[in-house]
Amino acid sequence: MTPPTPDAIRGAVDARRDEIVQMLLDIVGISSVTGNEGDVQRWVATALTGFGLDVDSFTSSREEIADYVTHVGEQPSYDDRPSVVATRTGAGGGQSLMLAGHVDTVPVEDRSKWTFAPEGEVAGDRLYGLGSTDMKNGVIAAMVVPRILEDLGITLKGDLLVNTVVGEEDGGLGTMSTILHGYKADGIVITEPTYQRVGIASGGSLVFRITVTGKAAHGANRNDGVSAIEKFVPIFLDLLAWEAERQRTIMHPLYDSFANKFPISVGKLRSGDWASTVPDKLVAEGRLGFIPGESMEGMMEQAQARIAAVAEQDEWLREHPPLLEFFSGQFVAEEIAPDHPLTLAMLKAHKEINGEDTEIFALTAGTDARLWIHFADRPALLYGGGVFHMAHQSDEYLEIEPFLNSIAVLTQMAIDWCEIA
Ligand SMILES: [Zn+2]
Repeated sequence: MTPPTPDAIRGAVDARRDEIVQMLLDIVGISSVTGNEGDVQRWVATALTGFGLDVDSFTSSREEIADYVTHVGEQPSYDDRPSVVATRTGAGGGQSLMLAGHVDTVPVEDRSKWTFAPEGEVAGDRLYGLGSTDMKNGVIAAMVVPRILEDLGITLKGDLLVNTVVGEEDGGLGTMSTILHGYKADGIVITEPTYQRVGIASGGSLVFRITVTGKAAHGANRNDGVSAIEKFVPIFLDLLAWEAERQRTIMHPLYDSFANKFPISVGKLRSGDWASTVPDKLVAEGRLGFIPGESMEGMMEQAQARIAAVAEQDEWLREHPPLLEFFSGQFVAEEIAPDHPLTLAMLKAHKEINGEDTEIFALTAGTDARLWIHFADRPALLYGGGVFHMAHQSDEYLEIEPFLNSIAVLTQMAIDWCEIA
């Protein structure tokens, strides 16, 4: 059959406009803060089954994730946190495509800061609600694409998979679980809120803890003690110097426009318990960023060496070396090439529907794309209609037009990538 025109694809999306917006309102209305995703995943599985897809739903266990726990984080619970994979089987002979998204959201921090209902509300051309942009709109887009293909009477050669996952905000449990359950595709598009730009690189991060030891004394005899705070100062200044040095010397075409490519941020300091006592201990916790091309292990070694070099300059620290530890979820940095076939196909699909080019970009934050690239050796990128800067904000909203448009683009992408049978 001849491929549908971009207008026909957009028309098929518009014909289901009310139903799609209602689906988004429904899913936003189901609370799914990270760790409590059971209800929303049952809703997703039921809807996808109703669309005629083969639906699989599975949970993970502590044992299964054990080898990957540094990458996806320790989970308080694995119970009732299913991942869902739905398959629209192709006729054969084409590439497979997976459309993927996370159903979990961060909690509502302060309800009084919300003008609109976090449970979902349409106002004008926007849909407000917790998770509306990050990223329940992307989940609905992924779910609806097979339906639009059905409306257009299209059979694809390659399989089209829809994957909805849990635990993304916390490190990526659901995506790791999907990989470990053997699911894969020749290309993965994660429908995160990129506002219809193509995200091809995810930054890495290490969460660290530095413990500095001092010697307690009465503040009135402070020369008898050693302040752990004073001993931390040169370490802290060196972290900032290292950040600046990296910014100057390490280049990457997708990151060079960032004012800070490698944010090193100390987010928590704890020291002392009495105003007139010299503190004998300081604990600093923070986050160290890095970019694709840099390995996680290499960054850990560099950080160790850097702190050891500072300690070497100081008699006390030489004898009482600061302790550096890494804890919580650690994110590897991964990317696919700007001219990777998946990138090119995504750019082309966007242009076919919109008549103009979009841009590629990189993130300093980590995304689930890194897990597909790193652990499954599969190309993954981000493309969605949500508003990027509204993620994790009060009055989080989605603009309905770009959202509907993203569904048309993703349908075009499925047609181009999997090919019409
Ligand atoms: Zn997200």
